[in-house]
Amino acid sequence: MSKYFPVIGLEVHCQLATQTKMFCGCEVEVNTSPNKHVCPICLGMPGAMPVPNKKAVEYAIRLGLALNCEIDLNAMWTRKNYFYPDLPKGYQITQTGGLPVYDHPICKKGSLEVTLPDGSIKIVGITRIHMEEDAGKLVHDLSPEGSHFDANRCGTPLCEIVTEPDIRSPEEAVLVLQKIKQILEYTGVSNANMENGNMRCDGNISLRTSEDAPFGIRAEIKNLNSFNNLEKALNAEILLQTITLDAGREVEQCTKRFDTNNNKTIVIRSKEDAHDYRYFPEPDMLRLVTASEFVEKIRKTLPELPDARRKRFVENYGITPYDAHVLTIDRDVSVWFDTAAKVCKNPKILANWINSELLREVKELEDGLAGVKIKPEHLAALVNLIEDNTISGKIAKQVFAEMFATGKSPENIIEEKGLVQITDTGAVEAIVREVVLANEGQFLEFKAGKAALKGFFVGQVMKKSGGKASPGLVNQILDKMAAE
Ligand code: ADP
Ligand code: MG
Ligand code: ZN
Repeated sequence: MSKYFPVIGLEVHCQLATQTKMFCGCEVEVNTSPNKHVCPICLGMPGAMPVPNKKAVEYAIRLGLALNCEIDLNAMWTRKNYFYPDLPKGYQITQTGGLPVYDHPICKKGSLEVTLPDGSIKIVGITRIHMEEDAGKLVHDLSPEGSHFDANRCGTPLCEIVTEPDIRSPEEAVLVLQKIKQILEYTGVSNANMENGNMRCDGNISLRTSEDAPFGIRAEIKNLNSFNNLEKALNAEILLQTITLDAGREVEQCTKRFDTNNNKTIVIRSKEDAHDYRYFPEPDMLRLVTASEFVEKIRKTLPELPDARRKRFVENYGITPYDAHVLTIDRDVSVWFDTAAKVCKNPKILANWINSELLREVKELEDGLAGVKIKPEHLAALVNLIEDNTISGKIAKQVFAEMFATGKSPENIIEEKGLVQITDTGAVEAIVREVVLANEGQFLEFKAGKAALKGFFVGQVMKKSGGKASPGLVNQILDKMAAE
């Protein structure tokens, strides 16, 4: 098989975390009974007039600023006409429509940064972010009467983020999608939960014969609902296009879906043309005129974003870039670490505890970090207790398990269980002497130079002290006695 070079661009839909819908006051669906949150506007009754949701516009601008976009203060709404049983209106209000005359999305010309596995930074262009409304839902529950229609989702506010075709491999595509999810979470504009479908991704991919050849013809794979499926679908499509090109055939531009069972992309339709949707300027809406003061106000309230937070963690706390990366993937984890690190004597060790012990346990919890009983300040205190030799690292593991189970402070647990490390030289020496007396033969060998026996003695002393003797002290005393 020949070697081709992939070119990839993503389209990411995300549901904005507003209380109400895009163009009416109906509540956004929250697991209620079907068709509860509807009104003449979101059902598209003739004569009902849509009014844009200011919060949704604010969120779209917030997202645009976080993705370094230009904000169009004179954006436009477009009507996209199509028939589908989950769309009672027969059209969707959006901000894009194939022709430049309709292309006035609220945000355009942005960028994001990803760190590639080799540590280099890659910039990926954001073509545009436009706002639109979601359609309803068909429920295929196999009831004898057929499928059901639920209009609760009709009119839910969405943003679609479109990247430039700057991505060069499926792995890079995953990094870009991760970064978009992170930014959605950090800015709070969307819950960005792929499992719940409030973030979905379409992957566009084509192949070319060299890194500077013109772009090939692309396929668009719709509705990928996990990072894993994005990567798998792109790889499956690379394989398919490679076979096509190797056979001397042309790739046909088409829209596909990913069959996860067979690990294959399947054509759902050949490429539709803009005129199929008969786009025209939305006649029920004026242009979306935004005051620049409104944009500046939003800019001022932008939170610290993942890249900045990662850099701050490295600079302020002296942790490794890799640890900082892991600790900032999830916004809540980053806040947790930040809170703990502020009161911790050794943030590096703290980072290790979170990345290894804590996050491993979190994976097993149904509600993730929210279900953790340990307070950040308490984990910091545990690290401080190791740092000042109150407890050994080994005892700390025991204390951690108890903290995780009960949410008690480490000081409480150590006190209750009498786990304070024995750092009194006399007390430790007494235990060492007992052990030496009981193993005189081995001690003579040790004294005579059999260094490997040291581990045996340290182990015995630790056992006898219930793990509480300070290992450093035990070592010192053994060395001293051997030299006597
Ligand atoms: P459409 O509405 O036809 O899907 P969009 O402009 O919404 O068009 O999205 C096009 C997506 O396809 C963008 O993410 C863009 O980066 C990507 N893209 C465009 N041309 C190519 C290509 N030749 N190969 C791969 N991706 C491409
Ligand atoms: Mg598209
Ligand atoms: Zn409504």
